[in-house]
Amino acid sequence: MSQSSWKDQIKKKWGPHLHCPICGKAMSAEKKFCSQTCRDQYLGKEKKQKKRSRIQMIFLFGMMGVMFIVMMFLN
Ligand SMILES: [Zn+2]
Repeated sequence: MSQSSWKDQIKKKWGPHLHCPICGKAMSAEKKFCSQTCRDQYLGKEKKQKKRSRIQMIFLFGMMGVMFIVMMFLN
């Protein structure tokens, strides 16, 4: 009785592994990135994303402040 699907076969062939979040290459599960280049790229992206999310937060709070002021005036 063979119930091994192609997924199991791939698992057997590759062992526990992850894919690089940057380039999608298969790599060992202990690593976070396949190479230093991808690591640098990821860190750069993360920095940019953090900056963007901070701007979005400020914008959101600004909107909330404006809404609050408008509500105050409406009452
Ligand atoms: Zn990579």
